[in-house]
Amino acid sequence: MAQHDDDGARATQPHRGPDSGHQSPHHQVLIIGGGNAGISLAARLKRYRVRGIAVVDPSEQHLYQPFFSHIAGGTAKAESAVRPQESVIPKGVTWLRDAATGIDPESKTVTLGSGRSITYEHLVICPGIQKNWDGIPGLQDALDSAHGASNYSIDLAVKAWRLLSTLRSGTAVFATPDGPITCGGAAQKPMYLACDYWRSQGVLQDIRVVLAVPTQTVYGVEIVDEELNRKIAEYGIELRCSTELESVDAGTHTATLRNNADGSSEQLQYDVLHAVPPQSAPGWIRDTGLADDDGFVAVDRSTLQHVTYSTVWSLGDAAGTRNSKSGAALRQQTKVVAKNLKAVLDGHSPTQQYNGYGACPITVSRSTVVLAEFDDARTPKPTVPGWKGLAKERRLTWLVERYGFIRLYWYGILKGWA
Ligand SMILES: Cc1cc2nc3c(=O)[nH]c(=O)nc-3n(C[C@H](O)[C@H](O)[C@H](O)COP(=O)(O)OP(=O)(O)OC[C@H]3O[C@@H](n4cnc5c(N)ncnc54)[C@H](O)[C@@H]3O)c2cc1C
Repeated sequence: MAQHDDDGARATQPHRGPDSGHQSPHHQVLIIGGGNAGISLAARLKRYRVRGIAVVDPSEQHLYQPFFSHIAGGTAKAESAVRPQESVIPKGVTWLRDAATGIDPESKTVTLGSGRSITYEHLVICPGIQKNWDGIPGLQDALDSAHGASNYSIDLAVKAWRLLSTLRSGTAVFATPDGPITCGGAAQKPMYLACDYWRSQGVLQDIRVVLAVPTQTVYGVEIVDEELNRKIAEYGIELRCSTELESVDAGTHTATLRNNADGSSEQLQYDVLHAVPPQSAPGWIRDTGLADDDGFVAVDRSTLQHVTYSTVWSLGDAAGTRNSKSGAALRQQTKVVAKNLKAVLDGHSPTQQYNGYGACPITVSRSTVVLAEFDDARTPKPTVPGWKGLAKERRLTWLVERYGFIRLYWYGILKGWA
């Protein structure tokens, strides 16, 4: 038995495992996705004494994705980014180990992959973003080959460090796709970590490093661009702006880069290709009638309540907000959704507003970080108002990001306290 909801007579045990399928199919708050957003929200709602919460997620593992960059760059081990999902489900919350496949907001029903249907009073949709590994011709073959890797999957991140750390000469290509992606700056992080490592090994000058970004500047926020351009010059990286990976020929190790500004193409033979897959909203959301034009959940960007159905909410990477998708953004969103949902459950109107904040700590060396903080208009939004110092390369931010945030994540954010 695994129904441990503390609002009913049956609820006497702490959470120990996934739902066995014998419980009530109705939940006061049903959360689709037990990732960063879903678990933080469930924990916070528990703290606000909301009862009848269930989380639907098929995954046995909970992943701390920000550490994938450290794994790919050789500054953390894979084990530190993974915990059993069971261990992060808040006590008193039901875990339904299944995948949501459909939603009928009229009858307030969610269909699961197992064929079961469950109903809700309020629904929170946060299944993250979809990584389209086959979205670039030849990319999947390249990643399956001995020369391709990516920090957007934990296994490929482990492989990335194996490839980058053993490279002594040749060409390394790092590419970021256009369109919405989670933590846009993450693609660059293993590159700077590798360059710093190659410099320490005395081989940096023998490695041609090419970075392709779809944006007109390296990051798209002026103060951050200044710092990154300085590091790019320091490491001798060749920067290609307005440029995307168009296709890959895994057999000949050839990456074709397309410049979207002038339409030109360039072919590069690589020894290591580190590529981020194109990303999109999970495809099944579009069929629910709850999506915006881009397929993400159509929420009011301030309250995070659905624009049509007041019992539907969304946050995190799947939400149709305009901020840079990141854990830092959804940390703010979690507080907004939790407070607004609690208010509505208590018969009040939502009052909390999300301000579009997002952030990305960019590891520009193996001991320093540039912290990019900005809103959904890409205007700097520093944590310390009026002080842009955190957007400069700093040792302090490295210490906080490498050692502090991960503890904050497991022991504060996922517990509903931070
Ligand atoms: C390489 C990388 C580096 C990053 N670095 C940073 C960083 O430095 N700082 C930062 O703030 N952010 C960073 N991020 C972004 C951050 O990890 C995400 O923004 C955050 O994890 C999004 O949380 P989420 O809950 O929306 O999605 P996720 O954490 O991805 O969780 C989604 C969950 O939904 C589940 N799910 C999927 N489909 C279904 C379904 N149909 N039914 C039920 N469950 C489903 C999945 O199993 C998963 O558990 C990084 C991301 C990556 C990939």
